[in-house]
Amino acid sequence: MPTLRRDFESRDDLIAHYREQFPEAAAVSDWVSDTRGGRDAAEALLDNVDPVEYGRTRNHLSGAVTRLSPYLRHGVLGLAETRDAALAKVDDPSRAYKLVNELAWRDYYRRVLAEIGDAVWDDREPYKTGLDAEDYADDMPDDVTNAETGNDFVDGSVRELYETGYLHNQQRMKLAAYVVHWRRVRWQAGAAWFLSHLLDGDVASNNLSWQWVASTFSHQPYIFNQENLRQWMGGRFTGDSVGGGSPFRGEYDEIKARIFPRA
Ligand SMILES: Cc1cc2nc3c(=O)[nH]c(=O)nc-3n(C[C@H](O)[C@H](O)[C@H](O)COP(=O)(O)OP(=O)(O)OC[C@H]3O[C@@H](n4cnc5c(N)ncnc54)[C@H](O)[C@@H]3O)c2cc1C
Repeated sequence: MPTLRRDFESRDDLIAHYREQFPEAAAVSDWVSDTRGGRDAAEALLDNVDPVEYGRTRNHLSGAVTRLSPYLRHGVLGLAETRDAALAKVDDPSRAYKLVNELAWRDYYRRVLAEIGDAVWDDREPYKTGLDAEDYADDMPDDVTNAETGNDFVDGSVRELYETGYLHNQQRMKLAAYVVHWRRVRWQAGAAWFLSHLLDGDVASNNLSWQWVASTFSHQPYIFNQENLRQWMGGRFTGDSVGGGSPFRGEYDEIKARIFPRA
């Protein structure tokens, strides 16, 4: 079995090598994320983790999230060592609760995957949106994948996904909700699209999170409104669309009546 080449003169050399090895991927997108691989980069990030600040700010786009996911996904860091590093930074374990709790979600999704295998691509339950699976489109709309919807949150997040291979959890939830509920696309199409761009792309966390948003792995669909979007986006995205208006405007009951007309 051939081993992977490890000796590179420079990062550019490494990037050129992988472009050559994977021409199909390079043809889809020529962007290279700034995220560095390897144990040193992972340990530097782990050193910087602040579990208390994380608990306080993690839902904000500019919050103290760890960005450890690519390293956890590819086995550069273990979940247990990450948990232990977080606990070692606090005098009372309850102060690291939020972070340990999120690590536990990753563990939970892996365990579900171990139970169900390829069925992770099947609806775990029916949609609770008043709609049937057949009511949802099979493919991603081009204006979404081309970042040409005209909505600043959607297009900005899609570009960020392509350029960095990373999205904050709030962006993932809201972009997934937009795709499934506003554009009425089957979650499987969105999940496959995310997996082909995320550096931490993981069929367990990704597919089950998409199913949670869709309501096929939860008791209700995840939706949001303009106010909620602005609350967490730290001024970076407003949710407004070119030409005015926003698909996210209104109270929750009004939005539900628009996007789930048969519920
Ligand atoms: C639609 C959607 C798709 C997602 N796809 C993936 C994916 O492909 N791979 C992936 O690792 N995560 C996925 N997540 C979960 C979560 O968004 C990411 O793990 C997290 O945003 C990664 O950033 P971070 O390392 O800065 O997270 P932090 O908030 O700093 O959390 C630390 C670690 O805890 C784990 N974690 C945090 N939140 C979650 C969560 N909600 N579910 C599971 N584990 C979590 C991750 O391993 C993460 O690295 C998805 C979430 C949604 C809503």
